Amino acid sequence: MTVRLVLATRNPHKVQELEQILQATGLDVSLEPMPGSAPDVVEDGLTFSQNAAKKARSAAAATGLPAVADDSGLCVDALNGMPGVLSARWAGSGKDDLANLRLVLDQVSDVPDSHLGAQFVCAAALSVPGGPDTVVEGQVRGRLVREPRGEGGFGYDPIFLPDGSDRTTAEMAAEEKHAISHRGLAFRALVPVLRDLSAQGA
Ligand code: IMP
Repeated sequence: MTVRLVLATRNPHKVQELEQILQATGLDVSLEPMPGSAPDVVEDGLTFSQNAAKKARSAAAATGLPAVADDSGLCVDALNGMPGVLSARWAGSGKDDLANLRLVLDQVSDVPDSHLGAQFVCAAALSVPGGPDTVVEGQVRGRLVREPRGEGGFGYDPIFLPDGSDRTTAEMAAEEKHAISHRGLAFRALVPVLRDLSAQGA
């Protein structure tokens, strides 16, 4: 049975990535955008999982439908795991992806190449009205490059080189990125729960 799922994000890049990832799983899902009337959620959790669960719960409560949300970011070893949950607004609110990326590059300008390890982390949450919440995480390890490369993806993709790749995630085709990405891993980990939901006739 088709599961109606609300995508609890207003970030158009994420809507596109989540649609591509969930559709590629072969699940029978119909994805619905967040209604304009749904309240904005303050992302004030200390962890990706707390923020993802909060966004999914809020969307499920506003719509009465199962909702999925993610919270994600870049964690740089030399910055003690930051920008982390602050990734979207690292250079200050109202600043764009390029300003965030430039600030990270400035902050690691004195860090030796051998210490440029980093990872993308994504928590994916599913909230079912009147049912349990499920939160899972995916990570992809890699390292930073000092000059942005590539036109694809969004955010910090132009400076992130996944382990085993000689191309940044901004230089990869979308399907190639989803196959290894933190978001791809996290959402594929939700698939068994979504299958159960479908079997229950949600
Ligand atoms: P969120 O909307 O609070 O989850 O913020 C996520 C932020 O982390 C984005 O605005 C990007 O700056 C960064 N980020 C998360 N996932 C990715 C990715 O796949 N590529 C590049 N940057 C990402």
